[in-house]
Amino acid sequence: MGGTFDPIHHGHLVAASEVAHWFGLDEVVFVPTGQPWQKEERQVAAAEDRYLMTVIATASNPRFSVSRVDIDRGGPTYTVDTLRDLRRERGQDNDLYFITGADALQQILSWRDVDELFDFAHFVGCTRPGHVLSDVGLPEGKVTLVEVPALAISSSECRERVGAGEPIWYLVPDGIVQYINKRQLYVKT
Ligand code: ATP
Ligand code: MG
Repeated sequence: MGGTFDPIHHGHLVAASEVAHWFGLDEVVFVPTGQPWQKEERQVAAAEDRYLMTVIATASNPRFSVSRVDIDRGGPTYTVDTLRDLRRERGQDNDLYFITGADALQQILSWRDVDELFDFAHFVGCTRPGHVLSDVGLPEGKVTLVEVPALAISSSECRERVGAGEPIWYLVPDGIVQYINKRQLYVKT
């Protein structure tokens, strides 16, 4: 599951857990992006902070892990590189499923090396409140859409809340509230 995870929240975790259950996945690897090329217009928290928050949020689940491939590669993250590196890191014999939200899936055709992408992994698009999927001409049999229990949580809203001094308890795991506070992330300066 790729994402900026700025910060990781319960929407991400529920989506990962649901997809892992429905597809019988052995492991869900969370892959925080390096510098996200689609989000260059805003300041993104340091990769190391986003990585650590992802580790904290997933640590208690034996099937969840975190990969540094995108962070360590440096430069802008392209999903095709992520999948290639994960194959190298986790072995060629594993079937890869790329879990993504419906909104991100919508942009899929704008991604680099689209044809190759679908050879590397099966794509799973999670429906998400407020994001209606229209027909964008996704290739037959390469993408599955799953409905995740409605969790209208986004990282943007969490950042805005912190900036406004509003609580994010229970939108994100407790350890993430505490980490954000400790590192003074998202506070307006
Ligand atoms: P931002 O608000 O900064 O865009 P985000 O909440 O969308 O953040 P990302 O890190 O961009 O979080 O998301 C990573 C992936 O998780 C994306 O594919 C996104 O669509 C998906 N996702 C995010 N929130 C949810 C949610 N509440 N339910 C299901 N999928 C989600
Ligand atoms: Mg997003």
